[in-house]
Amino acid sequence: MTLLADATADVRGGCLYVVATPIGHLGDLSPRACAVLAAVSLIAAEDTRTSGVLLRHHGVSTPLTALHEHNEERATSALIRRLQDGDSLALVSDAGTPLISDPGFALVRAARAAGCEVIAVPGPCAAVAALSIAGLPSDEFLFAGFLPPRGGARRARLAQLAREPRSVIVYESSHRIADCLADLAQVLGERPVLLARELTKRFEQSVLLPALALSGWLDADPHRQRGEFVLVIAGAPDVAADHVEAERLLRALLPELPAARAARVVAALTGLRKPVVYELALRLGTPTEPSQGA
Ligand code: SAM
Repeated sequence: MTLLADATADVRGGCLYVVATPIGHLGDLSPRACAVLAAVSLIAAEDTRTSGVLLRHHGVSTPLTALHEHNEERATSALIRRLQDGDSLALVSDAGTPLISDPGFALVRAARAAGCEVIAVPGPCAAVAALSIAGLPSDEFLFAGFLPPRGGARRARLAQLAREPRSVIVYESSHRIADCLADLAQVLGERPVLLARELTKRFEQSVLLPALALSGWLDADPHRQRGEFVLVIAGAPDVAADHVEAERLLRALLPELPAARAARVVAALTGLRKPVVYELALRLGTPTEPSQGA
């Protein structure tokens, strides 16, 4: 792998650069991101005032134009014309990676449809940052964005996500975190959940606790309800693998023990519920039809 240390950007005309910006710590803007932002003709920003603060901090004076959820379709046409006229453009959001629970999808899709090159300038993303410190399986994961704001819909979505075997990442705001954790406890019980708040900022914190214990953690200090949150929910236990193991053990025990006793032993060893294992034992204990020609 070759690593390029050069932070001066040679931006190309007609290209859209999708640039990740910090999720808190201003120092997390990469030298390359800074150079690209300084070199493009125009920066499309979710909020020009928010991005203005970041750009001034880094001495970048490129003009800004607004691209947010309320004007995305309209602003996109004008930006595509600029790209077709040979301008280089950058897209940024208020924090982190554009398009990740942030505006930009319409612009990127239109740029590709118009045959313009789209180039990533990668960097911070709260979801990936939280996953990287969670201590939960990260080989595969599901990013589920924001949960529905209202209780009933949120619980229904959580019940659906509770069946997901991969780690699940969700975003949550300070207004809803207390209600969300109460629902999480109700739906997920002892399932481990990482709560990360204020990542990269002065009062950043992360805890990995059973869902049932998170509300108590939040209530223990009023400051903990403030800021921005990411939750990483451990995937559903691998029920299928437990069943395979239960079947293997039952096959060894059933010739020696009555079905009920074998089921009790196997339930204790695998953590599966006794009635489930007993039913499996009865099925395994039933002699199978001899196959034709055997
Ligand atoms: N595009 C951003 C990214 O790449 O992570 C996400 C934008 S989304 C509108 C904002 C949400 O991201 C917040 O409500 C919070 O859930 C999460 N978030 C952003 N910054 C965060 C931080 N510093 N610490 C924890 N969560 C953060």
